[in-house]
Amino acid sequence: MTPEQIADLRRTKYNASVVWIHKTHPDLMRLRVALDGGLPPHKPGQYTSLGLGNWEPRHPGCQEESLKPGDEQRIVRRAYSIGCPILGDDGKLLPGQGEWLEFYIVLVRESEKPQPPALTPRLFMLRPGDRLNMVEKITGHYTLDPVQPGDTVLFLSTGTGEAPHNYMIWELLHRGHTGRILSACCVRFKKDLAYLSTHEELMRRYPNYVFMGLTTREADTMTHKIYIQDLIASGQLEQQLGQPLDPAHTHVYLCGNPKMIGVPEKDKETGVRSYPKPKGVIEILEQRGFKADQHQPKVPGNIHFEEYW
Ligand SMILES: Cc1cc2nc3c(=O)[nH]c(=O)nc-3n(C[C@H](O)[C@H](O)[C@H](O)COP(=O)(O)OP(=O)(O)OC[C@H]3O[C@@H](n4cnc5c(N)ncnc54)[C@H](O)[C@@H]3O)c2cc1C
Repeated sequence: MTPEQIADLRRTKYNASVVWIHKTHPDLMRLRVALDGGLPPHKPGQYTSLGLGNWEPRHPGCQEESLKPGDEQRIVRRAYSIGCPILGDDGKLLPGQGEWLEFYIVLVRESEKPQPPALTPRLFMLRPGDRLNMVEKITGHYTLDPVQPGDTVLFLSTGTGEAPHNYMIWELLHRGHTGRILSACCVRFKKDLAYLSTHEELMRRYPNYVFMGLTTREADTMTHKIYIQDLIASGQLEQQLGQPLDPAHTHVYLCGNPKMIGVPEKDKETGVRSYPKPKGVIEILEQRGFKADQHQPKVPGNIHFEEYW
């Protein structure tokens, strides 16, 4: 495509601008995007989609892609949870939403799927001021709607799955939530916890807040990896929480890797649910009296989940 064609496509297909980027390391970034015309209404925990044209350059060192004829002019979109910095530059709880939305994104260099990763190799080439596409309608059931002021709220995630939790944590602290709030995130290396210093500061300021960062590839954790599932099964989570897990007053939010979540499959004919192997968090918690939310208003659950793939 000619530079004129590309400039024309960018002008007509893009509706948002990058206002800030912070790369925690080359494969992990916090990205702030402002939509032309202002911020659409939304709730903490929800997601939208970001998109870039197939004509945009790809990050070096990523799986090669070969586009079909005609695909060069198409936009590729993916869903992204809306994140939150929680604290402002002055170190205080952000007073409210700014003019931008924060996203927390990992570069997928190679895909397990037959198709190579299409969007993140392009997103990681963005610089401040660049244009992109953002779907204006922000959506999703993964919100704080069922949480009552004194409830215990557990946020359990893998990798960038902490993004919606950070926005929900901000909302709870902003509301003056009186129940306990615990957030645990499992990553490979400590450098993959982009918000660690924020969580540490929150723990100093809010006696009802606890953060647990779990790593699986650091020298001291390689030999005895603790996954989110182990945290619950071993009783460590309750120890950190300072109270037993009580399904009557606790909401659990699970986000990220589907293996951690372990959504049971329902047999279409018999209606019998079977849990996946290896054991995910839903199975462990359902054995302890919790119930996964099936998005049926008449039978609300207290385990809420968002699978990233
Ligand atoms: C509701 C929803 C919200 C999401 N929010 C986020 C978010 O806030 N941050 C984010 O980084 N991703 C998020 N994702 C995943 C995102 O939509 C893309 O799939 C991801 O960014 C990879 O895009 P891609 O086109 O490069 O590769 P794709 O072709 O989309 O994915 C290729 C493979 O990459 C792996 N993968 C996808 N996402 C991740 C991930 N986050 N961490 C590790 N491996 C992954 C999976 O094995 C997947 O099959 C979300 C997905 C959904 C459904």
